[in-house]
Amino acid sequence: MHGFSKNCLEEYQDQNIMTTNRTFTMLKPDAVKKAYIGPILEQITASGFRIVAMKLTQLTTADAQEFYAIHKERPFYNDLVSYMTSGPIVAAILEKENAVEDFRTLIGATNPEDAAEGTIRKKFAASISENAVHGSDSNENAAIESAFHFSGREQF
Ligand code: GDP
Repeated sequence: MHGFSKNCLEEYQDQNIMTTNRTFTMLKPDAVKKAYIGPILEQITASGFRIVAMKLTQLTTADAQEFYAIHKERPFYNDLVSYMTSGPIVAAILEKENAVEDFRTLIGATNPEDAAEGTIRKKFAASISENAVHGSDSNENAAIESAFHFSGREQF
């Protein structure tokens, strides 16, 4: 469970959006800096995901700390927060049957060295810390993370 504020969860519950076929993704700062937005989105849409919401944005330190609060005791937490705030990201909500699991398969293992051939992280990630893309790990977190970044009016 994320350490998101109650407001965020309440906002999601208020939106009352059917989310079992949706996942949340971020194209991380390294992917944006290397001009991989186009190729990564192409692979995502060619794999059957529909873009429901999308924006280019930059996380504040407070945003990144809240988003990754689950990792706050881990040794890499501070590096993760400074990396995720180091430049713009693309945040998006994606829709497909079995979205969460299928998207995790499409992006591959957290460490690109362990990621399967053809996965987004295998192709575009530099390292375990700069690993190009985020994908929600459960339907509940997909809904919470989506509400953290997008209002109901920004979702199509
Ligand atoms: P994910 O669900 O595959 O993104 O992996 P996690 O939820 O376990 O970790 C969140 C993010 O923290 C990862 O995507 C990496 O960017 C970063 N991360 C995870 N493990 C490590 C690590 O051992 N070292 C560093 N530097 N970063 C890590």
